[in-house]
Amino acid sequence: MKIKVLGCSGAEYPGSNSPAFLLDDGILFDAGTLASVLGERQQMKIRTIFVTHAHLDHIRGIPFLADNLVMARKRRRVTVCSIPSVITTIRKHLFNSAVWPDFTVIPHPDDAILKLAKVKEGTAVREGEYRVTPYRVSHTVPSVGFLVEDGKGRRLFYTGDTGPTNGTWEKIGKRKIHCLIIDVSFPNSMEELAIRTGHLTARLLRVELDKMPFSPGRALITHPKPHFRKTIEAEIRKMKIDGMRLLRDGETISV
Ligand SMILES: [Zn+2]
Ligand SMILES: [Zn+2]
Repeated sequence: MKIKVLGCSGAEYPGSNSPAFLLDDGILFDAGTLASVLGERQQMKIRTIFVTHAHLDHIRGIPFLADNLVMARKRRRVTVCSIPSVITTIRKHLFNSAVWPDFTVIPHPDDAILKLAKVKEGTAVREGEYRVTPYRVSHTVPSVGFLVEDGKGRRLFYTGDTGPTNGTWEKIGKRKIHCLIIDVSFPNSMEELAIRTGHLTARLLRVELDKMPFSPGRALITHPKPHFRKTIEAEIRKMKIDGMRLLRDGETISV
């Protein structure tokens, strides 16, 4: 698996992009950053977007992609997949003909640019050569992480936004996770705020790692608040865990 990090920041500034992870050109996990960094040809290759939750910093690339798809000469269609409550929120509050046109009926209800698809927690869907399974995580709104498995048994788990979890890791079980992409948004000194807003600190991540029945081959940190990136980086380094580091916008990782 080749994953391009379009964005992995917990807030937006020049050089800090909201979360979006592009797998093999065609599959996107979250869409906080999209048309501002991908050219037209790359945008047209996206077939499916898996959304962890409906917070704006994870979905706001979708409306602009939909608009670009309508304008493109070739007919491309994109499916947005998530658990029912997330899909309902996106339909009701984003593509509602008030905030943005309803691209689920444009250009025609039978052949629309966007399809919104509901997937069930714990049930795998096939996406090309991959199996993708949503598992519930703990955030302030209904949220899932996605387990991605390729044909060779390589596994990635992307948490999206999460605070201390309750049962997530047990559901994944003892399966080997080669790469974990996990939220650490705040420094240790802001633990109370992290818990209240459904995020982790380095210290809270340590507790999560101890809960996991598996030990991830690598743990890559997403969603740090840019103000605290240096502090979080130092706190992660201090934990001295092999294969753990902060991600950077624009980098490509292989799993
Ligand atoms: Zn969120
Ligand atoms: Zn977020």
